[in-house]
Amino acid sequence: MSDQPNANRRKFLRQASAAVAAIPVVSMVGISSAKADTKAEDGHAHNYVNNAADADHADYSEGEKCKNCAFWGGGDAEWGQCFHADFQGVQVNAEGWCDEYVGA
Ligand code: SF4
Repeated sequence: MSDQPNANRRKFLRQASAAVAAIPVVSMVGISSAKADTKAEDGHAHNYVNNAADADHADYSEGEKCKNCAFWGGGDAEWGQCFHADFQGVQVNAEGWCDEYVGA
C-alpha cells in the first residue's frame, strides 16, 4: 500500500495551515512594510531557488512559481514580496520557488 495519498494530504494540510496563518501577516505586512531591498539567494529558506526550473525537490510541480503562489505579495516583473514569515525582509524572484508554495 502506498503512502502517497497520506503524503499528499499532509502536504495539503501543512500548506493550507500556512496560508491561513499568513492572512493576519499579510494584512499587517502588506500595509505597513517598506519594500525590502535585499534579494533572496538560493537556499534562503525552505529550499528556495530563484529559478523554479532549478528546484530539485519532491514537492515541486512544473508551473509552480512565486508569482502564482498565495504568499506572493506583488512586485515588478522580476522581484517581489513574499508574505511568508521566513521571507520577510527579502524580495523573492517572480520565477522562484520554495517548498512552502501554495497554489493561488
Ligand atoms: S512561499 Fe511562495 S512566494 Fe514565498 S518564496 Fe515560497 S514559493 Fe515563493
